[in-house]
Amino acid sequence: MTITGSWQRTARGAGLLGTDGRIASTIFAEMSALAVSTGAINLGQGFPDEDGPAVVLEAAREAIADGLNQYPPAIGMPVLRQAVAEHQRRFYGLEVDADREVLVTAGATEALAATILALVDEGDEVLTFEPFYDAYGGLISLARGVHKTVPLRLPGFVPDHDELRAAVTDRTRLILVNNPHNPTGSVLPKETLELIVELAERHDAVIVTDEVYEHLVFDGVPVVPVATLPGARERTVTISSAGKTFSTTGWKTGWIVSTPELVTAILAVKQFLTFVNGAPFQPAVALGLGLGDDFYSGIAATLQGKRDLLSEGLRAAGFEVTVPKGTYFVVADAAALGYDDGAAFCRELPSLAGVVGVPISAFCHPRLAGEYSSLVRFAFCKKTEVLERAAAQLAGLAVSAA
Ligand SMILES: *Cc1c(COP(=O)(O)O)cnc(C)c1O
Repeated sequence: MTITGSWQRTARGAGLLGTDGRIASTIFAEMSALAVSTGAINLGQGFPDEDGPAVVLEAAREAIADGLNQYPPAIGMPVLRQAVAEHQRRFYGLEVDADREVLVTAGATEALAATILALVDEGDEVLTFEPFYDAYGGLISLARGVHKTVPLRLPGFVPDHDELRAAVTDRTRLILVNNPHNPTGSVLPKETLELIVELAERHDAVIVTDEVYEHLVFDGVPVVPVATLPGARERTVTISSAGKTFSTTGWKTGWIVSTPELVTAILAVKQFLTFVNGAPFQPAVALGLGLGDDFYSGIAATLQGKRDLLSEGLRAAGFEVTVPKGTYFVVADAAALGYDDGAAFCRELPSLAGVVGVPISAFCHPRLAGEYSSLVRFAFCKKTEVLERAAAQLAGLAVSAA
């Protein structure tokens, strides 16, 4: 039997299919397997190795004990929708109607999937920055959209405004923003976001903004949610998730905030993807969203310390480091150590230093991968002692390069 279907489009988009048509492993799976087989410290995958707030975890256990174990409403439980609306008001001054403008999803991933499938028709263009979170490419392919990108350039991983202007046309259906940005850790300047809103208005595009790292920002850098900018609200789909904020990436509880019309269109697709999700997690995440300011400043400060620890270690090892303004990730340039091919370097790094990273080229189309070829992403959402050990092991690279 020959099995054909849209899986082939995603598989090719994600580089899963080898030239012989067989499933090849992604660099992410390959690196994680390498970490296991060599016992190296896995700074490749972006998940925390410590639990989030105990009260949030306890609330989920209580919800199960209390019998919240059947299908919740498709749009999400009122307690979580209200908490999301209150969160947008408290942090950003946005007034949100919890009954019509919030949709609970199976993580930010389903929010992205339902949004893209709902709004993109065959041949519509979707613009993202590049490098991009890998799911974007696969989801745009599933929707038979055309993926256009604008590069984030060094220093600082910021886009060139002329390139951005040139990339948005009347064919652009969605402008998909990720801020703070995975994999580069950059936070987009307000002027760039304002330009995105201006271009979206001019070309009647919808802005989809993935803000899952909204609370994980450093050095007092403000994150400006796109929806707070003049003219943006009515054409913006804001996506976030509990996974990164509460160190609960396995809960897959996310949400969309948008206009009633856009929420309805996205719900129409979401109902046939998962219908509903994660009943006992919803009141727990609602409780988390209501935690005090000390919790929110605390997670950012703790993560900033971890960023500094790993960045220092990478610099001492001889890498050129772009200090991230947000997220779980730091990008290091291995060219300074004499390596131009980040993917080859990542394959060697477990034996060289007992550490695993992911090449930035894995977040790029082949056309642009060359520009980023010596860059490697490392995750610092790990225990302090793990990062200290990684830094000490990486220091050996400087010795062997000297
Ligand atoms: C982790 C991540 C997601 C996925 O979030 P889930 O809630 O786990 O589905 C989406 N976008 C970006 C940029 C991420 O880093």
